[in-house]
Amino acid sequence: MKLAIEEHLKCSEYPRVGAVVARDGVVLSTGYRGERNKIHAERVALEKLTREQRCGSTVYTTLEPCVDLHHDQGIESCADLIISSGVSEVVIGVLDPNGTIYSQGFRKLLENNISVSFFSRKLRSAVEEETFEFGDVHRVFGNGKRRVPVVHSGIDITVQFSESDSRSIPISWSTLQPTFGCVDLISSNGAVTVAAGTKNFGDITDPSVFRFPSHFARMKKGSIAIVQPAGATFSVLVKLNDLFENDILFQWEVRNNS
Ligand SMILES: [Zn+2]
Repeated sequence: MKLAIEEHLKCSEYPRVGAVVARDGVVLSTGYRGERNKIHAERVALEKLTREQRCGSTVYTTLEPCVDLHHDQGIESCADLIISSGVSEVVIGVLDPNGTIYSQGFRKLLENNISVSFFSRKLRSAVEEETFEFGDVHRVFGNGKRRVPVVHSGIDITVQFSESDSRSIPISWSTLQPTFGCVDLISSNGAVTVAAGTKNFGDITDPSVFRFPSHFARMKKGSIAIVQPAGATFSVLVKLNDLFENDILFQWEVRNNS
């Protein structure tokens, strides 16, 4: 696991991913994403080995192996390569926070009778901080759009005004109910207001005109809410762009209070 982390630190681009193939405690090969032009880390490491060496090996990878997202992808996904190589065991650093992949690589490996385990908690948090450009998936800045997994107890996100302005407002997504097409946006202290009637952030000239704040807003696709905790000097506009089985795509914008 530590060697895979050393490998991912060699990446010059995000996301950083490192992989190690071993058998009976002996390292057979290593690889990192981009070591060979845009090739994923698991493939780099596996392709250094013969078929016989790959078979029955253990792959340590800092990020969940990818799955085939589009059937025209051209190159087989790392999950498929691991399966066709006869790998026995995969040890994963972190699940991919990209909602289109999140836990699908993990699930695919399990379905193909590969034993899957995870890095220790301490190593996982090191990997999570170093894998993505903005480090922590629980902190976002300024304006943007993000697809995040909303599972079990939900996901807490801190919206920071900008990279240089550390003022921040916490929000949480919880209780995703794909069958009902809704998800709850939660803020403590009754700070969420639905911006009823709006379709775009541009429709909101003054966030404070909207009334009846609550501690949560039940959001449907296209809903916009405003999070404005008492005492905060700015507000966060949040739009739910789409929702899927395990994750949502949302967009946010920060506005200084006038
Ligand atoms: Zn891959």
